[in-house]
Amino acid sequence: MGKLDFVKEEIERLKKEGLYVTIRTLESPQGAWIKVDGKEVLNLCSNNYLGFANHPVLKERAKKAIDELGVGPGAVRTIAGTMKIHRELEEKLAKFKGAEATLSFQSGFNTNLAVIPAIVGRGDVIFSDELNHASIIDGCRLSRAEIVRFNHADPEDLRKKLEEYKEHPGRKLVVTDGVFSMDGDIAPLPEIVEVAEKYDAITMVDDAHGEGVLGKSGRGIVDHFGLHGKVDLEVGTLSKAFGVVGGYVAAKEEVIDYLRQKARPFLFSSAVTPADVAAAIAAVDILTDSDELVVRLWDNANYFKTEMKSLGFDIGISQTPITPVMLGEAPLAQEFSKRLFKEGIFAQAIGYPTVPKGKARIRVMISAVHEKKDLDFALEKFEKVGKELGVIG
Ligand SMILES: *Cc1c(COP(=O)(O)O)cnc(C)c1O
Repeated sequence: MGKLDFVKEEIERLKKEGLYVTIRTLESPQGAWIKVDGKEVLNLCSNNYLGFANHPVLKERAKKAIDELGVGPGAVRTIAGTMKIHRELEEKLAKFKGAEATLSFQSGFNTNLAVIPAIVGRGDVIFSDELNHASIIDGCRLSRAEIVRFNHADPEDLRKKLEEYKEHPGRKLVVTDGVFSMDGDIAPLPEIVEVAEKYDAITMVDDAHGEGVLGKSGRGIVDHFGLHGKVDLEVGTLSKAFGVVGGYVAAKEEVIDYLRQKARPFLFSSAVTPADVAAAIAAVDILTDSDELVVRLWDNANYFKTEMKSLGFDIGISQTPITPVMLGEAPLAQEFSKRLFKEGIFAQAIGYPTVPKGKARIRVMISAVHEKKDLDFALEKFEKVGKELGVIG
């Protein structure tokens, strides 16, 4: 028996259960069509909602930032890593979101690890939607607060649980995804905020998939529901619709000031590079100027989803461009994905633990860079494979 034998055993188990993820390698920039493992395929699984990942304006600004400011930040933000360009991004994001202030981090994942443990700790209680993203779950665990899960998107269940803890002396935090990344449904934020307010709980939403998608010109879920000033902490990512990499939190100036002192990834991990920041600023500028890309994204999504439904596919409860094609067992989802790839479609299967057991799916991500003929190509292939595998009649 070797001390690392468990590694091999676990990998074998994953393979047997259809849960071993084949990691494909891209040989081209992000776009509607990409080269993957030597093959040109239609890209239906990136989070590049608006095409910013390879946008000429973002690339130009990133290059300019490298020429003017170099490639590395050189330090953590609190020592010597805060450049003027970081502050510029944070101010622009605040204006865009209609928030008092923002603070940026290295990723959305890091933002949750940064914010949650700074806001609650031992003796406090977190009320967390049962389907929240892994980074929220990890942020909650890291905080050492008690974690109470409420039923998915269920403000009444949240109310019951808050009631149970009414006399609890610690701070209370209610946290939810804005758009749930695997199902594409939108959190009932107005109701959640109303309940949380009654029990004097702090509110936090992680809008990673609502950023650039929901609200006026992609201003996100708070804008979508007109809840400006009502959500205490609004986390966003710069790695999805914004096309670059990074994360941020929007809140009152005082809260941001506090996070600058307390958020550990801000204090102990280096800042993002000038090129990333410059590109993110360009994305904010483009969205501030025009909603053209966001409108195109929704037109594409509405078209694709309507057609998939009429083909007979179960696309779940999505209210956004995220389109889960529900298949049930993980091996079927993997087989479906493999056949699609042979037909020239890149759409990854997603299984446990990313989604619950028995709810494996192919998650289709629609983008503004898709053309109608691309979507028609995808529909044709989904129909073909769906019939071959007996998923549709
Ligand atoms: C993708 C995602 C993140 C992570 O964002 P990154 O910037 O990629 O680290 C965080 N929260 C949610 C809800 C997400 O969907």
